[in-house]
Amino acid sequence: MNDDVLNGAAILIVGAGFYGATLAERIATKLGRRVLVIDKRPHIGGNAYTEPDPTTGVEIHRYGPHLFHTSNEEVWRYLRNFTDFSAYRHRAFSTHRDQVYPLPINLATICQFFGRRFSPDEARAMIAEQSSELGDRLPSNLEEKAISLVGRRLYEAFIKGYTAKQWQTDPRELPAQVITRLPVRYNFEDGYFNDRFQGQPLDGYTAIFEKMLAHDLIETRLGVDFFDIRNLLPEGVPVVYTGPIDRYFDYAEGELGWRTIDIELEIMDTPDYQGTSIMNYADEAVPYTRVLEFRHFNPERQHTSGKTLIGREFSRFARRVDEPYYPIDTRRDQATYGRYVARMGREKNIHFGGRLGTYRYLDMHQAIGSALKAFETVFEPYFEGRLD
Ligand code: UDP
Repeated sequence: MNDDVLNGAAILIVGAGFYGATLAERIATKLGRRVLVIDKRPHIGGNAYTEPDPTTGVEIHRYGPHLFHTSNEEVWRYLRNFTDFSAYRHRAFSTHRDQVYPLPINLATICQFFGRRFSPDEARAMIAEQSSELGDRLPSNLEEKAISLVGRRLYEAFIKGYTAKQWQTDPRELPAQVITRLPVRYNFEDGYFNDRFQGQPLDGYTAIFEKMLAHDLIETRLGVDFFDIRNLLPEGVPVVYTGPIDRYFDYAEGELGWRTIDIELEIMDTPDYQGTSIMNYADEAVPYTRVLEFRHFNPERQHTSGKTLIGREFSRFARRVDEPYYPIDTRRDQATYGRYVARMGREKNIHFGGRLGTYRYLDMHQAIGSALKAFETVFEPYFEGRLD
């Protein structure tokens, strides 16, 4: 076989999301190596891809809302090479029985829900009382973890129904970490994230990827499926694979459970539909999990169309043809993934990364952070040891 398919690249990166783009950029910039990035979709950016809506001009997050936040200074510094950030700090709300409550659950949510004033100590005592049903047992799944954090009544109001819609999986089968993404606060602080660095990219998410991949040594080919070119690769070429891990092994150990999202877009004839960027719907009677109003992610921009674009989010199990978003990660999935890990260890010249490649619910900053780490620990030593 010849080198044509690589066009002189020293490495092939499969997937132009945050993990793949970060590695491509580092390898080109720091090591001066040619990189070929492919993605089977017609655009860069993976699920962080955004684009302007032609009617309203607002930036649509095609694959669900992306909110940048990190406490990792290295990641923040790195990303700022490619974008400036707005001062956006996310605040969220949940509608339950036609009332709007602030999220994450904080003292304001607790006071409003129980209809009286609580001091932080009183609220703690009440929640402790309500979560006493767990006894000394350490919470081992999402339901137990949620009850230990907020007590049964708040769990049933704000978490049970939302989680049923989002995962369609028994909450006792879901990992406890899913719920620890949401802080719980015994004060009136209502920012969604605790992280030190937060904001939205001033020119949108896609512009970050355009800058990362703009290097002369990086070639990006879109609409190219790795499995169509796999057999054309020269022997021994290093590959970074950031696609679904079960797909890589042709599902030999079984399918991993993924959730995907459908977003139903609608242009509303008002400049402001819901007064905030994301409104969660806690009750199962409402079929969608949340309503996004994209213009509110960028309050610093001029929105002059007089209209607003909203998206209703519906969650469902991903089939093979769908874009996978969230690893479900039940015990069965963990066992399946364990068998894929054993297979990964036997593969040569390939590195698996990113959310799909490692079956982990990574946020953007975690995908970037793990790519920076892989660059230092795997790729820098690999290329520095080679003279060609
Ligand atoms: N969650 C919930 N109620 C809410 C928001 C979140 O029960 O109003 C639970 C739900 O199980 C969800 C998880 O917390 O999957 C993580 O929520 P997050 O908003 O971080 O999810 P993402 O934005 O990644 O979809």
